[in-house]
Amino acid sequence: MADLVVTLNAGSSSVKFALFAATAEWPRLVVAGAVEGLGAKPRFRVDVVGEKASERKLAAKLTHRKAIAEIFKWIEGAYPAATISAIGHRVVHGGLRFSAPVIVDAETLAALRAFIPLAPLHQPHNLAGIEGACEAFPHVPQVACFDTAFHRGHAFVDDAYALPYSYYEKGLRRFGFHGLSYEYIARRLRIIDPIHAEGGVIVAHLGNGASLCALKGGRSIATSMGFSALEGLPMGTRCGEIDPGLLLYLLESEGMTPEELSHLLYERSGLLGLSGVSHDMRALESSDEPRADAAIAYFIHRIKMEIAALTAVIGGLDALVFTAGIGERSPRIRAGVVEGLGWLGLALDATANARNDSLISSTQSRIPVFVTPTDEEAMIARHTIEIAGLSVAAR
Ligand code: ADP
Repeated sequence: MADLVVTLNAGSSSVKFALFAATAEWPRLVVAGAVEGLGAKPRFRVDVVGEKASERKLAAKLTHRKAIAEIFKWIEGAYPAATISAIGHRVVHGGLRFSAPVIVDAETLAALRAFIPLAPLHQPHNLAGIEGACEAFPHVPQVACFDTAFHRGHAFVDDAYALPYSYYEKGLRRFGFHGLSYEYIARRLRIIDPIHAEGGVIVAHLGNGASLCALKGGRSIATSMGFSALEGLPMGTRCGEIDPGLLLYLLESEGMTPEELSHLLYERSGLLGLSGVSHDMRALESSDEPRADAAIAYFIHRIKMEIAALTAVIGGLDALVFTAGIGERSPRIRAGVVEGLGWLGLALDATANARNDSLISSTQSRIPVFVTPTDEEAMIARHTIEIAGLSVAAR
């Protein structure tokens, strides 16, 4: 039997997991699931490939560690004969040091803990996932896969802030995130459109978190997120691009504490803050509130601006790809962006767009526009199989 790989994605209110069979071509999904609603009403959701999804409630006040133990207990119960050969983890921050996935040992774990101040909202949960998995499977290799790693090859001009150079040397840089998603899309595009994949491509990862990445030859050249996951596009609840002078004003003149400012920028801004309706694009699109429309218009406006800026960075655009929740499923957002970039040679096929087809540009379009579902879990599984050196079976 092929080796089985578990992927874990431990976030603030959920722990997602998946089980993959290691195959010679691409990891084959066996089951995906999650413990969701941590801190509120936890639920255990399981979606076995080819079967009906199921969900059950879990005890309130479930900690992350207990959620992880619950997941492993379920896997062992559901697949008693299976051998878990490696566990792959999504880790948001790999700092300057990690530009590729690594097998986690005590020294690596200590290094990853040192990055907690760089990603205080995500990194502690990611590490709790690794610790929980080490406890449950002490002899199984644990592989950390980083959201920042794909962007570590950026040129100085795309990596730096114009602060004194010593800050750059200290590592205060534009790290960028969503790297596993971009890496997956870059690989998919090589299959979907190998010729354009070698050129300049912009990928719009539009989910609750949103960013753009400019690729050349499948490598990340620049991205809209920077030192933190706040920079760039406005998101569900995050502000995106903002004048740092405004932040100084809030701290100095309005007497905000750093905690209040952090809460404002991460939790109360973006689509939610602008609309006063919701952080959720589906809710905004179905709302009659003028401010929901204004929030959508702002989102589209900023995406267009960032695409134009990134096009300049890579010296021209050969393909545009939409991915993640909004990118894969919102014809309205995609239409706003593509029609607003007509000057760049983009033209939409409205019918294909309404159907969420994989190619949504018209035959008149100078540049193809794709809708490509992302799969960060499969990317983690692929890295884990390679790094852990697992044997692979034919599909
Ligand atoms: P996350 O960043 O949490 O992984 P997702 O990639 O799942 O987020 O994207 C969530 C976003 O996708 C939400 O704003 C949601 O409203 C939006 N979305 C999902 N389906 C649709 C749809 N059919 N139309 C418009 N927006 C959608």
